[in-house]
Amino acid sequence: MRLDTIIQNGILVTAAETIEADLGIIGEKIAAVGQNLPKDGAKAIDAKGKYVLPGGIDAHTHMEFPFMAATSADDFETGTTASACGGITTIIDFALQKPGETLEQTVKNWRRKADGKVVIDYGLHLIIRDLNDRILDEMKEMIGQGITSFKLFMTYKKEGLLLDDGGIFRVMEEAAKYNGLIGLHCENNDLIECLMSRYLKQGRKEPKYFARSKPPVVEGEAIHRAIRLAEYSGCPMYVVHMSTQMGSETVCEAQRSHLPIYAETCPHYLVFTDEVYERPDGANYVMSPPIKKKEDQDALWHGLAKGEIKTIGSDHCCFTTEQKKLGKDDFTKIPNGVAGTELIMPVLYHFGVAKNRISINQMVQASSYNPARLFGLYPKKGTLAVGSDADLVIFDPEKEVRLTRENLHSKIDHSIYDSFTVKGYPVMTFSRGRLVQENGRFIGEKGHGKYQARKPFKESEARQMLAPALA
Ligand SMILES: [Zn+2]
Repeated sequence: MRLDTIIQNGILVTAAETIEADLGIIGEKIAAVGQNLPKDGAKAIDAKGKYVLPGGIDAHTHMEFPFMAATSADDFETGTTASACGGITTIIDFALQKPGETLEQTVKNWRRKADGKVVIDYGLHLIIRDLNDRILDEMKEMIGQGITSFKLFMTYKKEGLLLDDGGIFRVMEEAAKYNGLIGLHCENNDLIECLMSRYLKQGRKEPKYFARSKPPVVEGEAIHRAIRLAEYSGCPMYVVHMSTQMGSETVCEAQRSHLPIYAETCPHYLVFTDEVYERPDGANYVMSPPIKKKEDQDALWHGLAKGEIKTIGSDHCCFTTEQKKLGKDDFTKIPNGVAGTELIMPVLYHFGVAKNRISINQMVQASSYNPARLFGLYPKKGTLAVGSDADLVIFDPEKEVRLTRENLHSKIDHSIYDSFTVKGYPVMTFSRGRLVQENGRFIGEKGHGKYQARKPFKESEARQMLAPALA
């Protein structure tokens, strides 16, 4: 066996194990893991004192996403470049059905935007927003084609994205039949609209009233309702971007009743509190759901540590300062969304592992292994096993990076994290054996990424996700 590349003396970390060993790559695959692998002409990389992690899977991105009166600023090239520089080697992006469109057309259109531009691998979820019998029939076909998860909105009625509870139920029934997984954006639309119009009538139009229109009960109530609908239809469900203690408690309770309910949170909820909405650039922190209080942040870390929150996705949907100005006189018009795909690993490490909130194995679970299991990419992705794709990150626990716009790779003109310096950063990213990032410099290639058809959701597989209280 002649290896192409050998990563020597690194600390290999998977969801379950941490071992000091070499790792060998042949072509696009991991070919060997062990002590003192034969060098034999292979390109050698010394990883002493550094972690070797499975590449991250960011299961929540919105590249080139038309939303409100804008389109998110990162396209599939700049967005995935940012991902790669943060140690992400696969994204799962949300293909948005246009009104009247079949799901097949949606996928075709989305792939036309992504193929040829993505610098790392990608898969798709489908957002269903215009439901009829034909669309329900198509779901089975889509699952067969490797799009095994669907996302529905309980809010954004005015933006034309909301599905009513009956619609959600019908999609869930269908997904349950064919092993699909339903992702839900859980916020109570009526309550939001009521509070928003109340603030606007009072002349309160600044960004902080956006956050105040979405208090924790907005999410808590919707998660509860969604779980009951999922339970009734027998459908596994994934709560996207969970931001509250109330939501976490509800999810945890469902899990204790052995319901297949999973939850994701995002880097921004783990770092900030709602004080950011008092800042002059508060609009840059407007996303849905908005950032909550310290007790919510603590509950999310707790949920990650207990394994109740399975994944961290970025909800990368960024807008420039100029685009954010669409809402300068009215908070309801600020395009919702922030950047984050580049910061999943640095945030989990600096604010999580280094502060002893989670272990390094739990970091791998949340950023790679669990999304691979839930979204049908395992064992091709999500681990460091012989035969798996050589999607790898060399992570230097000593490297310090100030999270300014200049040090990040998204196209936007600001960084909401710019007051932070983190310690611990990916210094090399390999995508299917190819080095695409070195020391913060992107050296990959547009179009290198490949579309990934995913496997149907299997509850038995999902149950393999460790309850990460290993220590
Ligand atoms: Zn999103």
